[in-house]
Amino acid sequence: MKIIDGKAVSLRIKDEIKEKTAKLSESGIIPTLAVIIVGNDPASRVYVNNKKKACEYVGFNSVEYALDESVSRNELLGLIDRLNADSGVDGILCQLPLPKHIDENAVMNAISYEKDVDAFNPINVGRIMSGDFGMLPCTPAGIMELIASTGESVCGKRAVVIGRSNIVGKPTAMLLLNADATVTVCHSKTKNLKDICRQADILIAAVGKAGFVTADMVKEGATVIDVGINRGKDGKLRGDVDFEGVAGKAGYITPVPGGCGPMTIAMLMKNTYNAALRRQNTETCG
Ligand code: NAD
Repeated sequence: MKIIDGKAVSLRIKDEIKEKTAKLSESGIIPTLAVIIVGNDPASRVYVNNKKKACEYVGFNSVEYALDESVSRNELLGLIDRLNADSGVDGILCQLPLPKHIDENAVMNAISYEKDVDAFNPINVGRIMSGDFGMLPCTPAGIMELIASTGESVCGKRAVVIGRSNIVGKPTAMLLLNADATVTVCHSKTKNLKDICRQADILIAAVGKAGFVTADMVKEGATVIDVGINRGKDGKLRGDVDFEGVAGKAGYITPVPGGCGPMTIAMLMKNTYNAALRRQNTETCG
């Protein structure tokens, strides 16, 4: 069994972006990410701070818009309109969850698809379906990078994704399909889950239940990617995979923490860099 080191893979990607950003900056373009945070959710604050730190590391500008919990939908949409129109802003990220009185879908729809670095806008979701990749959804794209880092081909492999959320399960299935895997998506109503998982050469766990995937659900030598982030009563983070039990059976496995988590931010940096590159091309072409 080999552990896939998400920290190392994400650092390699961030270092590549850092180098390319230094070159891009010579042409006067510094990739710029606008980060919107609404209210005082401590977890959101940690995520936003980590994203800002990553921007600093790779040489991007990040501009934070911290809005009060009571902000109105129209005020938030007004800010997004201004950021959409600002040619100095390459990426816009609105940290979720939003307060209940604001419709998250309306906010995702409002962010210009060209600046939608989370790839939550329906245009980008649709592009993933058609295999025309502009912005890649960060966590699923990070999963694909982790699999690629093993050097094993995805083509023709049997992949099973547990979880069908819009953020992780569904887009991950589409990326695996696009890479020529034969994909099964499982969810809370799936029958014979264990049998289906046991057929997987690549098993992705995105359930949100600590230790959900046990050794008897895993095929000998499978690549197991654990997306889950579950905080226990002891304050420790645990994945959706029973790491100790499964590690003896898997060919490759990601740890939690240090697997998918760091990759999500690295892919956010990649999307922002690519958006800035498009700005450079637009400016060059007039
Ligand atoms: P979600 O709650 O939206 O979806 C969970 C999915 O699990 C659902 O589709 C549900 O059908 C499925 N499920 C629930 N119980 C099941 C069961 N008994 N059998 C089979 N399927 C079952 O969650 P999400 O947003 O997709 O996140 C999943 C996990 O990944 C969470 O722990 C979340 O914190 C984590 N996550 C991590 C990252 C990262 O950067 N590493 C990013 C996003 C989410």
